[in-house]
Amino acid sequence: VTADRRSERVRCERLDRDDPLATVRERFLLPEGVVYLAGNSLGALPRAVPGRLAAVATEEWGKGLVGGWERWMSLPEETGDKIARLIGAGDGEVVVIDSTTIALVKILTAAVRARPGRRVVLTSTTNFPSDLYAASGVARLLGDVEVRTVEPLGIPEALDESVAALLLTHVDFRTGELFDMPVLTKAAHSVGALAVWDLCHSAGAVIVDCEAAGVDLAVGCGYKYLNGGPGAPAFAYVRRDLQPLVENPMPGWLGHASPFDFDVVFRTAGGIRGFATSTPAILGLSALDSALDAFDGLTIEAIRQKSVSLTELFIALLEERQLAGLQLASPRPSSQRGSQVSLRHAEGYGVIEALLARRVVGDFRPPDLCRFGFSPLYVRHVDVYDAVEQLEAVIESKEYLDERFGRRRKVT
Ligand SMILES: *Cc1c(COP(=O)(O)O)cnc(C)c1O
Repeated sequence: VTADRRSERVRCERLDRDDPLATVRERFLLPEGVVYLAGNSLGALPRAVPGRLAAVATEEWGKGLVGGWERWMSLPEETGDKIARLIGAGDGEVVVIDSTTIALVKILTAAVRARPGRRVVLTSTTNFPSDLYAASGVARLLGDVEVRTVEPLGIPEALDESVAALLLTHVDFRTGELFDMPVLTKAAHSVGALAVWDLCHSAGAVIVDCEAAGVDLAVGCGYKYLNGGPGAPAFAYVRRDLQPLVENPMPGWLGHASPFDFDVVFRTAGGIRGFATSTPAILGLSALDSALDAFDGLTIEAIRQKSVSLTELFIALLEERQLAGLQLASPRPSSQRGSQVSLRHAEGYGVIEALLARRVVGDFRPPDLCRFGFSPLYVRHVDVYDAVEQLEAVIESKEYLDERFGRRRKVT
């Protein structure tokens, strides 16, 4: 290791020392010696969660038995209010329900039906495939609805008065590109369409201000930057003034005004609660609720600042090294980037696998993308440095060609 390199790492240690979020890492349980850069896929385990899960199982369920519902019934909205603070929404505008794709089917259907006479859902060709599948499923269910997909740059031009809803994911899962939410929402409104945003890759890591941007409806996932655990429930946002004007297309007793009356006629609970359908999975919901306490006392601005500092450092260290065959696939200006950096490499799969053997966890997306997520709550600047050093070693040694790293696993 040259003196230069040593001083670079010392500089990163100093950045961590001066980092106002430095101690937040202690709110997580991370395995020793692992650089975890896949928090955009599955967030790390918050320290408080195992205890909460055990308490819910042994105390609330084990001892409280069916009486637990007194406490559990309002959890979807209580947890929703915690998420609301992270996405610029108010109390009573977010509910934790279902999982993302299912919540999206409900929210998108509600949006299209709120614009009768309009038969187009406009979305981007680069959207997350599950969102595209969901949109085409909604179109078939409603009948006579068309999903129009265009390249991201073509969206403003493709917006016209036939569009009921513009459906976009705020941060592109492949490249980490951050869409301009206020501008695109305004463009949708200018033709009378509703703006539906998927916040999966932004909630908890990127500044989202639903209220300021005038977002109509949104969904997002609980297990990425919100750290709710594998298969954590999703959340749905409906702007308050829109709540009386949109209808949950999948009514169920949990969204009933008075579920324990067992009335044969459905009467919506109204508000955001009306989007609940059925009994929530309390264990998963409790884990997410507890995980969100890791955000206590933090502003989303401070979180974003840390995130930018990490992604900028990663890119700068790579630019200094100019590693053969690696290209930046994410936007260079931080203002156009989420909390993720993607790199292209022809042997990207082997690169990610070789890094994994060196205890640096990223992930691979076809055809050639190596993705690195920088969860600002627990990734340190020294982790960024160490990841780059390992990446350099993998590239220089051409380890990625090793046949050990060529076999595709079922989950990448
Ligand atoms: C992660 C992600 C999802 C996840 O969908 P599930 O239904 O929770 O499996 C959906 N949309 C986007 C944009 C995502 O990034």
